[in-house]
Amino acid sequence: MGMCFAASEKQLYSPGQAPEAWQLFLLLAVTLPLLSCTLIYYWSWDRWTRHPLAQTLALYALPQSGWQAVASSINTEFRRIDKFATGAPGARVIVTDTWVMKVTTYRVHVAQQQDVHLTVTESRQHDLSPDSNLPVQLLTIRVASTNPGTQPFDIRLNSSEYGELCEKLHAPIRSAANVVIRQSLGDLFLETFASHVEVNPAYSVPSNQELEACIGCMQTRASVKLVKTCQEPAVGECQQCYCRPMWCLTCMGKWFASRQDPQRPDTWLASRVPCPTCRARFCILDVCCVR
Ligand SMILES: [Zn+2]
Ligand SMILES: [Zn+2]
Ligand SMILES: [Zn+2]
Repeated sequence: MGMCFAASEKQLYSPGQAPEAWQLFLLLAVTLPLLSCTLIYYWSWDRWTRHPLAQTLALYALPQSGWQAVASSINTEFRRIDKFATGAPGARVIVTDTWVMKVTTYRVHVAQQQDVHLTVTESRQHDLSPDSNLPVQLLTIRVASTNPGTQPFDIRLNSSEYGELCEKLHAPIRSAANVVIRQSLGDLFLETFASHVEVNPAYSVPSNQELEACIGCMQTRASVKLVKTCQEPAVGECQQCYCRPMWCLTCMGKWFASRQDPQRPDTWLASRVPCPTCRARFCILDVCCVR
């Protein structure tokens, strides 16, 4: 319409006399919206049962209920806070108690957890990630369903989220032979921390003292005591802590890691942090296992 006024010399008011290119333009401008309206009308028949998303969901519907029942089940589970969600808005991956979903701009892939097989097919190493300057590993996981109507789809995630995904899934994730999954930095540090503490001298508790539950996690008994062993008592930056054993090795490792600069993992093992209870500074050589 605007072009009729803007280029009045081309006689766009009477399509029969307009140049051929403009006739084609007019044809497209009318047919494309018409086609999409027809498609939407076709989808909307029978309460939207012909919509592609409804047809995807209908694959999982029980014979006596429609796709709406599946949709409301997904809605309920999606609202729970314990769902696993990751990925950019254009390729969001969501795992709930019963469903594995990938939401892209034009498609929603849905599979039921009980009949999927997940296989790690590829891992890609990137030296820098946009939000921290640590190396990241991106995993591609193929989700194949035993349901014949469901097409297999790929989900991608950071290897540090892999542990969280495994927790949410009921079935194990298979790994292609040549793919090595790296742990998150935190898990890696906890392992290193534990192996360093193992070689420190052990601390034996007085026989009248009983070990309490770790006050960090309340799951296990306290298993470490801070004893200044790195240097002579009056020398250096470390201080003697007089607290009784109150923490387990994992919680102490997490505390140690939480006081570090996430951008400089190379400095973590050599640093000193305050005791979580009395604030006396200690280094990794001062963490002793309780015997
Ligand atoms: Zn603990
Ligand atoms: Zn202390
Ligand atoms: Zn020390």
